[in-house]
Formats: sequence, structure tokens, C-alpha cells
Amino acid sequence: MALIVQKYGGSSVADATAIKRVAHRIAEAKRAGDDVVVVVSAMGDTTDELLDLANQVSPKPPSREMDILLTAGERISMALLAMAIANLGVEAQAFTGQQAGVITDDAHGKARIIDVKAGRIHQALDEGAVAIVAGFQGVTEHTNDVTTLGRGGSDTTAVAIAAAIDADVCEIYTDVDGVFTADPRIVPTARKIARITYEEMLDMAASGAKVLGLRCVEYGRRHGVRIHVRSSFSGHTGTLVTDEPQPALEGEGTMEQPIIAGVAHDRSEAKITVVGVPDVPGTAAQIFETVAASGVNIDMIVQNVSAAQTGLTDISFTLPAADGQRAIAALDAVRGAIGFASLQYDDTIGKLSLVGAGMKSHPGVSARLFGALRDAGINIEMISTSEIRVSVVTRADQLDDAVRAVHTAFGLDSTEGEAVVYGGTGR
Ligand code: ASP
Ligand code: MG
Repeated sequence: MALIVQKYGGSSVADATAIKRVAHRIAEAKRAGDDVVVVVSAMGDTTDELLDLANQVSPKPPSREMDILLTAGERISMALLAMAIANLGVEAQAFTGQQAGVITDDAHGKARIIDVKAGRIHQALDEGAVAIVAGFQGVTEHTNDVTTLGRGGSDTTAVAIAAAIDADVCEIYTDVDGVFTADPRIVPTARKIARITYEEMLDMAASGAKVLGLRCVEYGRRHGVRIHVRSSFSGHTGTLVTDEPQPALEGEGTMEQPIIAGVAHDRSEAKITVVGVPDVPGTAAQIFETVAASGVNIDMIVQNVSAAQTGLTDISFTLPAADGQRAIAALDAVRGAIGFASLQYDDTIGKLSLVGAGMKSHPGVSARLFGALRDAGINIEMISTSEIRVSVVTRADQLDDAVRAVHTAFGLDSTEGEAVVYGGTGR
């Protein structure tokens, strides 16, 4: 008998038929003798529709009320799912984030889980019931205000609950069969990855892979939660995220790690160039202190060599496009004080990242990446690297071609036919 957390995304519970299908899956696991805790997302596009509604009644909805609104989505799906399971003769109890003991900080819209007091969940399990928990939400410790964890946050709820109850595995059900070497919506020949380390999965998530949220992977790594990403639309084994060494097959040594785990892409960033920056000590600090003070998280930075005659240089950096106008306004306000000439804003960029722990010890990875882009006629605008990642910025409209070219160049294309995308939305 195992203790399993199962998380179902929006596409797995998009309508009544889907909810009944998932209910069958859960009832089956329960009947097989496992203890099951289910975390569920809002149905289909509910969260987007609620956001739309809010923006129709107010150009700037207060974040506290926005969270109360958005948590309604998960309350609907958790209640319906519990009803559907009960209808199959298996007892199920639904819990809001608050009832499930998910305690967060008070950062509305992007709250962090600080504790899970899983008393109610344990009680439900002891009574022989399946516990159904609303994902993506929690409550502040002192004021009892309802919070949300940020888009895609149900994954984090699932992993946090798995950690709190010391589950054997946290199964994340989505609309593809696991983590792929690239987004199968863009690269149909992408391959399913059988096993991936937290470190690689973190870099994939941070680089735009949407299959798992960054915070979910961070949480899983910190607490050693085995995460199994798989599809609710098939019975296939998915991808295991774990640092446990691969068990050796009969008669073989441990499997060698592949050099490259996958190619991630991100279309959500923009680029700001600060033009004509005096090349003297302290200006970069002033620029990035200004950006930081406006609450904006930056990603890549490039500083050009300064022109000898003028002593001026240009500094470019990338940031979430959603924060672009805020950063521009903050920088514009200090133009005179810092003494730069002007600002350029560009939100038609795309970022490609090649991730793999094996590149630490293999020369030529960057060279092969750049060669693949050259052969595809794609210009590189910025480059950044870490120990296990190389990222490049391209034009947004060339990003898909870039991902396909690089995927092929690193021999990642599958020979076993095309990857299946069951739901289509990635939820
Ligand atoms: N329903 C929320 C969203 O759409 C949370 C989630 O799906 O994980 O972002
Ligand atoms: Mg998701």
C-alpha cells in the first residue's frame, strides 16, 4: 500500500465528462489499496475567464479581492470531483486550501507556502476517504486572508502536500505523457524523458518549460519529493523527477547520463537597452538598483565594450514583458541622475535554452548550438550560460525554427513517431 498525491490540471477536469473520467482513475487507485490525496486545478480556462471578468469591472483590481475571486475556480472543481468520486461508491472529502492547512505569506497573486498543517488531510485518510484539495491557494497565517500561489501554482500545492504527509510519490497529471526534450507542440518529434534530476528540471522550468512550475520543482528538491509527471489521458509511465540514481538494468552498469536533457523556450520576456551609459564605476549598480527597487526580476545582462572616443557603452537586459513598462518608467525617472542617453524597449524577442548536466564535462556544446542556429539562418542577439545551461535570445518569430534546429542538431529527435498532446492547453 502506498500513499500517493495525484494532481490533475485544468485540461484533465475541463468538463463533466473529464471529471468523471478522472474520478474513475482515482477510485481505481483507492480500490487498489492506496491512500490517495488529490490536488485539483480549476476547470479548463476558468482562471483566465475570472481574470478577464475582473479586468472588465476594474482596470486595476485590488490583489486581495483578485485572490478571493481566483480561488473560486479550484473550489468548483474540487467539489465536483468529490461528488463524482462519491457517486462511484468511494468516500471523498473536499477541502479548500485553508481547510487543508496550506499556510502562505501575504504576497497576493504570488504567495509562497510557508507551512502545511495537514491535520484534516490525515483525518480524512484515517476515515478511509480520498482527500480532495483545491490547488493554487492558501491562507495567511495571522489575518486568514485567502491567497493564490501564482499561475500554475497547483503543482506547488501538490508537492507541498506530498512533502507534508511524506507521500511515496507526487503524480502530476497533465495533457502530455511527461517531460519532453522540447515542447511537443513545437517539436512533434520531441522525446519523453524517463528520468530527470531536480537541477535539470529547475533549469528547464526557469527557462520556460511549462510542464512543471519552477516553485514546484524547488519545493520538491528541498524536500526530496519524487515527482512523477504523466498524462491523465493515457496509462503510460511518464517522467520521474528525482536525484535517486537510475537503477541498473540486469547485467548492466548504471546508465550513462545523456549530455543534453532538453531544449526549453520562452516567449514571455522583453529586452531593454540602456543607450549611452557613461563607462565609469557605479553606473551598472545604479541602473540595476533602480530596476530592483521597482520590484522587477531581471534575467540576462549584456554590456558592450565602450567606444574609446566617447567613453560610453550600452547595457541590455531581459525581463518579464509583463514588467516592461514598470522598469522603463523607473529608469526614465533616473535618466538625468545616471546620465545615459536613451532607452530602447523590445518585446518581440524569444529565448531558447539548452539544458543538460552533461555539458559540465563535454566541450563543444555552445559551438554546436551556435552552428545549428547559423545553418538555420537565425541571428543570436544575446547569450548567457550557466554550468548546465546555454541560453540565446533570437527574434520571437524565429524561435520555433530555432528550437527545432537545435533539437535536431543535438540528436534529440525521436524515431518512434510523434509525441501526443492530449489536451492542447498544457494544463
Ligand atoms: N488554476 C490556476 C492557473 O490556471 C492554477 C493551476 O492551474 O495550477 O494558473
Ligand atoms: Mg500546469
